[in-house]
Amino acid sequence: ATPTSIMVGTGKGAENGILIKGADSLELAHKLQTIVLDKTGTLTQGKPTVTDFITVEGTANNNELKLLQLAASIERNSEHPIAEAVVQYAQSQAVDLTVVQNFQAIAGSGVQGNVSNKLVQVGTRRWMSELGIDTQALKSRWDRLEYLGKTVIWIAVDGKVQGIMAISDALKPSSARVVQTLQKLGLEVVMLTGDNQRTAEIIAREVGIKRVLAEVRPDQKAATVEQLQAEEKVVAMVGDGINDAPALAQADVGIAIGTGTDIAIAASDITLISGDLQGIVTAIQLSRATIRNIR
Ligand code: ADP
Ligand code: MG
Repeated sequence: ATPTSIMVGTGKGAENGILIKGADSLELAHKLQTIVLDKTGTLTQGKPTVTDFITVEGTANNNELKLLQLAASIERNSEHPIAEAVVQYAQSQAVDLTVVQNFQAIAGSGVQGNVSNKLVQVGTRRWMSELGIDTQALKSRWDRLEYLGKTVIWIAVDGKVQGIMAISDALKPSSARVVQTLQKLGLEVVMLTGDNQRTAEIIAREVGIKRVLAEVRPDQKAATVEQLQAEEKVVAMVGDGINDAPALAQADVGIAIGTGTDIAIAASDITLISGDLQGIVTAIQLSRATIRNIR
């Protein structure tokens, strides 16, 4: 490509809220075959809220607000969007947070810590199983919530499940339309998420994505992109989180959500400033036009 056509393409991108870092990505974007989309913060708004809080009945710990205090006190130490939702929910219930010792975040699983000699663990059902914690008591409630496309987190105190919380994160208004447009352009659209399989599939169906790679640990996201590239595909990754940065760097074209983390933006080739996914389509069209001008 000539420097002039690249400059024109880059300029038009900027006019449309799309920052294109190098000439390479503009030249590559028209060759894309697979678009990998992160779920939280990319397809969804990334502003999760707690919609349900259910506690186990008949236990000594059946004091809802006390349990909420334990969970939110732990979550206050986490930077995960889910953690923010839990803390906000606790604040809305006028619950004061308390001191936590030995806080630990287990990527892709959850968080834990000690509150006044109690071990509090908050995270996925899979993690609870790995810890040998029985989840039977709230299984039917959990089932119903996940079928609604919500992310359910489990709260255990001293190794016993005491409650669950359902967290909902609305789709961006343009997500379904953009997925459909990309598919019409002949691209395969894939969802990549650390969230559980069932929730991921329900959200995927809502936006028309057929291929879902869920429960992917943060350190496995880049390897997953690599596997897609090994299918002889030119792959773009679109993401917003710290967890997405290695995958953004691994992809042939890394596309960051401008409202996401600085680390994701730094690792990417293209940034969608407002976070509007329509920018993916615009970038591909710009690339096609740029290449046409060159030939
Ligand atoms: P993603 O950002 O794609 O949702 P993560 O790997 O960050 O994926 O998280 C995967 C899952 O681990 C989340 O859906 C959630 O269930 C659980 N999890 C992660 N962090 C926390 C946290 N701070 N509190 C509760 N659950 C968490
Ligand atoms: Mg995300």
